Amino acid sequence: MTSEQLKQTAKDLGADLVGIAPVERFDLFAPEAHPRSVQPHTRSVIVLGFAIARGALQGVEQGTAGYTLGSGIPSAHSIESTYQLCRRIENEGWEATPMFRQSGEMRGQGVRVSPDKPEPNVVLEFDFAAHAAGLGEIGRGKWLLTPEFGPRQMLTMILTDAELEADEPFAGHICDDCGACAAACPAGALDTQNLHYAELCNGEDACWYSLHIESCRICKTGISSLPYFGGSEPFRLGAACGRACVAHLEDNGMLTRKFASPFREAPAQEGE
Ligand code: SF4
Ligand code: SF4
Repeated sequence: MTSEQLKQTAKDLGADLVGIAPVERFDLFAPEAHPRSVQPHTRSVIVLGFAIARGALQGVEQGTAGYTLGSGIPSAHSIESTYQLCRRIENEGWEATPMFRQSGEMRGQGVRVSPDKPEPNVVLEFDFAAHAAGLGEIGRGKWLLTPEFGPRQMLTMILTDAELEADEPFAGHICDDCGACAAACPAGALDTQNLHYAELCNGEDACWYSLHIESCRICKTGISSLPYFGGSEPFRLGAACGRACVAHLEDNGMLTRKFASPFREAPAQEGE
């Protein structure tokens, strides 16, 4: 199976975004976050993106039906599509390990099985993988932004020993450091004056506003848990910060996916 055939199959199975990175791009990670700690024969890391329906944010945005977000998260769909793609890859004689996002808090919870292996659980860094596979960048809000959907997607991964033609790491810029995500947060949990840096596979740094995650855990503006997160880390797309980013990127024409109606109606002007 060529990379082109694999990508078409992934799209036929329902993925919106597909990127491929050689496993060497993950060598900056410790064994606790390295794909080869999970599947030692890994040569290629396939990253799949599934769009979260924009309309699913509206009940939260309007403040009238906070449950709409949960209905628009393609969790079952992404699991099924990823599983089916694994089957297609294994039909060709290559091993394919499906990976779903887990909380970093799952690291170090088990007992080391041998001195040369990290403690379970190894947890991969999905947003960094998506950058390595060419899908997008990590924005100041500390989430992945893609040119198509901004912060509005779920990611899954497949680790395989198939040697596939890789995509280049993402090279563009989507986040313009506008600060809208931070300004929208009633708890001041995103600190624009205090930046956090982390190395990317291409030698550049991802950079985001420091985040006080404890505030997010009790945020009342629309956080939710994703089934695959284990409930320990809030998913912030539906919260005030995430929705502000969607509105900013769309209002400024920065995403390729267009809609007939604006995500957020402009506030009424004085005198209207
Ligand atoms: S989830 Fe809530 S508390 Fe956390 S940054 Fe977003 S708006 Fe602020
Ligand atoms: S709201 Fe602005 S600063 Fe925050 S992630 Fe989105 S584009 Fe970047």
